[in-house]
Order: sequence, then C-alpha cells, then structure tokens
Amino acid sequence: MTKCLILGAGIVGLSTAYELKKKGFDVTIVDSNKKGQSSRAAAGILFPLSPWENLKYMQELCISGHNEYNKFIENLSSIDKKKIGWEKKDLIIFGKNTNLAKKWYKKNKFVESIFIENKLIKEEKNIKEKYENYLSIKNINTLNPQNLIEFYRKSLLREGVVFKNENIDNIYSYVDIPKNHIYDFVIVTTGSWSKEVFSEDHVKVKPIKGQLLHFKTKEKLLHNILLYNKYYIFSRGDNNIIAGATLEDVGFENNTTLEAEKNLKNFVYEIFNKSIKIRDSKMTFGFRPYSGNGKPYINRDLRNRRIIHNFGHYRYGILTAISSAKIVEKFIN
Ligand SMILES: Cc1cc2nc3c(=O)[nH]c(=O)nc-3n(C[C@H](O)[C@H](O)[C@H](O)COP(=O)(O)OP(=O)(O)OC[C@H]3O[C@@H](n4cnc5c(N)ncnc54)[C@H](O)[C@@H]3O)c2cc1C
Repeated sequence: MTKCLILGAGIVGLSTAYELKKKGFDVTIVDSNKKGQSSRAAAGILFPLSPWENLKYMQELCISGHNEYNKFIENLSSIDKKKIGWEKKDLIIFGKNTNLAKKWYKKNKFVESIFIENKLIKEEKNIKEKYENYLSIKNINTLNPQNLIEFYRKSLLREGVVFKNENIDNIYSYVDIPKNHIYDFVIVTTGSWSKEVFSEDHVKVKPIKGQLLHFKTKEKLLHNILLYNKYYIFSRGDNNIIAGATLEDVGFENNTTLEAEKNLKNFVYEIFNKSIKIRDSKMTFGFRPYSGNGKPYINRDLRNRRIIHNFGHYRYGILTAISSAKIVEKFIN
C-alpha cells in the first residue's frame, strides 16, 4: 500500500490526509504545534472576499474550493454539519470594493450575485442608515475552522491515521533517514513555516499576521457576512461575532495588539448604530502563509521527487484546502 507522510496538521494537511485516506492510501501526520497556526485562527468564510486581487490560478482554486465544499457538506450528516458549525449566509459587499466586485461577479457567474441600489438597512436592520448600494452574493458556506479541525482529527483517527508530535528541522535530511524510507511520498503542509523546513531560497513563503476580534452581543446582530472596505464581520451561531482581519507583515510576532483591537472596534462602531455594545471581547491571531504573489506551492519538489509541496495558501487556505488536496492526489496516483 502507498505510504504517505503529511508534515503539518493545519487544515491544508488534514484535508490532504482526508482525501488521500479516501483513496485508500496509508497516511501518517506529523506536527509540532507551532504557536500561531493559521487554521485555528481563521474566520471560516469559505469564499474569496476580494478574488480580483488574486492571480488567475488562485481565483480558479477558490472557485473550485467553493464547489468542493458544497459537495463535502452535502455528504455530511446533519449532526456533523452542526459539529463543524456550518451555516449558509449571504456575502454583502459595500463601500469602496462594490464596483470592483460587481464587475468581477458579472464575469464569473459561478454564484448568484445581485446588485441592489437601495439602503442596506433593509437587509441588516442594525446597520447605520447611511449605507446604500451593495452587492449581495448568495449562499456562501461558513464554518468554525477549529471545529473542522476536530472533525478531521476524529475522522482520521477512526480511519487508522497515525498522528505524531515531532518538529522537522530540514525536510531533505528527514526523508533521507533510513527509517523514513518507508514513506513513498512526503507532503509538506507547514504553512508559514515552510521556508524554514526547506532551508532553500526558492521557497519564498513568509508569515502575514492576522488578528480577529471576537465579541458577544445581547441580541442577534447580523444574518449575513458584511464586507466593508478592508474588514469583514459576521456571526457564528446567534450572538458570537467575528470582525477581522488585520494584515500585518511583522514576522512571527507572537501576540495580539491593542492597536489592532482598537482598529477592529472602530470598524464595528463605524458601521453599526450606537446602541451596539461590544461584550466579552477577545482578540486572536494567526500567521497566514504568503508566497510573495499569493499563488500557493502545489507541486513536486525538484530536488527530491518523493516530496510534494502544498503550502502558501495565504488568505484562502480553508477555502482552497480540498481543491489543493485534489491536485496533490494527482501527483500520487
Ligand atoms: C485571522 C485570519 C483569518 C482567516 N480567515 C480565513 C477564512 O475565513 N477563510 C479562509 O479560507 N482562510 C482564512 N485564513 C487563511 C487560512 O487560515 C490559511 O490560509 C490556512 O489556515 C493555511 O493552512 P495551513 O494548513 O497551510 O497552515 P497552518 O494552519 O498554519 O498549519 C501549519 C502546521 O504546520 C505545522 N508545522 C510547521 N512547521 C513544522 C515543523 N517544522 N515540524 C512539524 N510541524 C510543523 C504547524 O504546527 C501547523 O500546525 C485566515 C487567516 C487568518 C490569520
């Protein structure tokens, strides 16, 4: 039986493991629990927020990611859908990106989108009166990424996948150790840490820190995902609200900041009526793996053909995890 080792247990690694296991491969996963894992910090919007900013390759990966999740969710039981915190919402874009979005979705008709010249207050009653004209994209999948991680871990353990806690300093030395010759393929899904793992100049990935504000409100604040200029806001469950996310080029700076908290709170106060109270707020952070042009590395390593790259998914790694895993599968078949 073909043996695969997956290095990295974020969503990209876990989705890859899940897809390979379905194909009948023998799978082992190694991870060293780095602080700032991106997948645990992610918002869980399974849709590109500003696809026009991406290269064609990433745009297509996002579109197939959207379609793959529709299939994935369709095959889950209603209990599992609940466990992963799955909800369908509309994405409402207003503010300065509206025209760009309108143009992009006119060309890329894989979802239903409607431009409305009217006050947004009709759609989201808590919003300030002043917001008019918006683009509404229908039926976007959202979930809680931490719950998806738990779902994958449990399913994979049940299927006999072995999880190991180990830090790999250099992938080339690691695959050369005789005991690791048993693996036919080693798939590297180490997100922002991938440059260190390869210690090679051609791997350009670096971390772009993102911070999220989580808070509660007494009543249900929102039904949909709102994207206003550079930030978004939506609810998980009834009154757990997430607003985000910052984009910070600060290396592996390992903390949340008061400045980010202030900016995100100001964003919330900017779009909602004064009556909105931010309660029990909490900040979280993670490191998005950025490849320099936003295109992930999904290919075979040139120096060692047993090694397969699957990292650098930047802002859309939850969304594109299944579609990326399907590409990896082709290298192994
Ligand atoms: C605030 C925020 C919000 C986001 N929201 C969304 C969203 O709504 N939708 C979306 O699609 N994307 C979102 N993203 C982006 C998304 O989180 C990432 O693209 C995705 O999680 C990347 O997954 P990954 O598995 O490649 O990396 P990670 O989740 O970072 O996992 C990498 C794993 O590799 C392990 N590892 C690293 N080095 C080693 C080593 N040497 N040895 C052993 N193990 C190692 C780490 O411990 C870690 O577990 C968001 C990101 C942030 C920060």
